[in-house]
Amino acid sequence: MLDFAWITDQMFEDKLEDLVDMLAPAEILGISGVREIVREELYNDVLEALISDLEECEGCGKTIPPGQKPDMEGLCTICAAEGTAP
Ligand SMILES: [Zn+2]
Repeated sequence: MLDFAWITDQMFEDKLEDLVDMLAPAEILGISGVREIVREELYNDVLEALISDLEECEGCGKTIPPGQKPDMEGLCTICAAEGTAP
């Protein structure tokens, strides 16, 4: 049987950090229970990031609704339609 008595807590923690350093973030999130904890911790940050990802119309300045993309000139569908109207 292997003897682990010589391994101190500090040695264990240092080696654990070494091994974690070698993992990709997606691998860390894949460890059972980790995603749930990280999700809880960063919940508000995720929501804020999604909101800040939304783009504003170059014409009216309103937030372009989720799922819609600004046109080539950065306009929302309403401003784009007005711009192309005769
Ligand atoms: Zn607009």
